[in-house]
Amino acid sequence: MAGLCAAARARELGASPVVVEKGLRPGGSMLLSSGMVWRYRSFEEFRRQCPTGDEQLQRLVFDRLDEGLEWLESLGAPVLEREAGNPLTTGVRFETEGLTAALVRAAGSVRFGHGLENVPGSWPKGTVVLATGGFQGDSELVQRYVHPAAPLRVRANPWSSGDGLTFALQRGAALSDGLDEFYGRNMADVDFGAAEFVSHAQVFGRYARIFNDEGEEFFDHDAISWSELDLVQATAHQPGARAWYLFDEEALDERVQYGTVRELVAQAPTRADPKDLPFEPPSQAVVATRVAAAITHTIGGLRIDRRARVLNDEDEPIDGLFAAGVDVGGISTGGYASGLAAALVLGLTAAETVLS
Ligand SMILES: Cc1cc2nc3c(=O)[nH]c(=O)nc-3n(C[C@H](O)[C@H](O)[C@H](O)COP(=O)(O)OP(=O)(O)OC[C@H]3O[C@@H](n4cnc5c(N)ncnc54)[C@H](O)[C@@H]3O)c2cc1C
Repeated sequence: MAGLCAAARARELGASPVVVEKGLRPGGSMLLSSGMVWRYRSFEEFRRQCPTGDEQLQRLVFDRLDEGLEWLESLGAPVLEREAGNPLTTGVRFETEGLTAALVRAAGSVRFGHGLENVPGSWPKGTVVLATGGFQGDSELVQRYVHPAAPLRVRANPWSSGDGLTFALQRGAALSDGLDEFYGRNMADVDFGAAEFVSHAQVFGRYARIFNDEGEEFFDHDAISWSELDLVQATAHQPGARAWYLFDEEALDERVQYGTVRELVAQAPTRADPKDLPFEPPSQAVVATRVAAAITHTIGGLRIDRRARVLNDEDEPIDGLFAAGVDVGGISTGGYASGLAAALVLGLTAAETVLS
């Protein structure tokens, strides 16, 4: 998303950028996403939810998001909903095929099947905006920075494998905080493809008691955050990066956004009888589900300033190097914030800085 936003804004400002896309279709993970571009209702809430994030970048995303949403609509991106359905947040849900088409139209030229080796540097000469979507697709980089107990399944486009990070590190870039954090979901522990990214996500861990394969209850379910990212990250560090959710009758009656926990558990492909677990379950448990941590995108990445310039270890901008979207780290550190919002705002900002 970030690269298309940067190119579309640059074209508006009179430049002729080229989007170099490694994949065979546009839209990256944005196309696969639920399309909700959101922010916290207040900046104070953003700080509370993501307390260790870079405050300057958080301020930038927070302050510019509403303008960015209007800009997307002005390009013809189709809106599905104007409410985030969460009392903490506000946002707009876009239909992602239409959003992708609108951005591609506005971006102009997209060259498919190319990586950074073919960066034309024609905007202006030698300038690159890195927007490769993070490093979740490279299991070695994930192992090095996130340190999961076992390889994580990837719940994202298959092409975001750290090329932006590597390209920038080779040019002296500095890394942000939060390299071991990631946004993801505990998924039903079965093979899945893009069509199941949402339906197999088991976002009801807060109603369960949570155990690892050795029978240790490793997370207090009363302490799980609304996004459940803390639970997903903790699961990644359990044996096999897997867990069991155990439900009692009372938990099954809880209401969630699209029904009751009972209905969601009934659809879970890894539903199990607690008697069949590899450890002694609590006596009240009536049903269990097996989950595996999956990574949607990294949270740590390149360090940039509020003009989207990639910084070196001395906090100085590296000539001609900009970054936007998930390639940028440290915005939602310590919690969860909208990746689409960061991609939108930083894409716009990068284009405006390049052309200022
Ligand atoms: C199922 C699902 C649901 C989601 N729902 C939401 C949601 O509702 N709200 C929200 O805020 N976020 C959501 N997200 C996350 C959101 O999709 C990402 O945060 C967002 O797409 C990040 O934008 P980006 O531009 O950094 O990366 P992307 O949108 O993934 O774009 C990166 C692009 O870079 C390309 N690329 C990679 N390497 C190279 C290279 N070397 N050269 C050229 N191109 C390269 C990739 O092919 C891709 O097209 C969801 C994600 C998924 C998978």
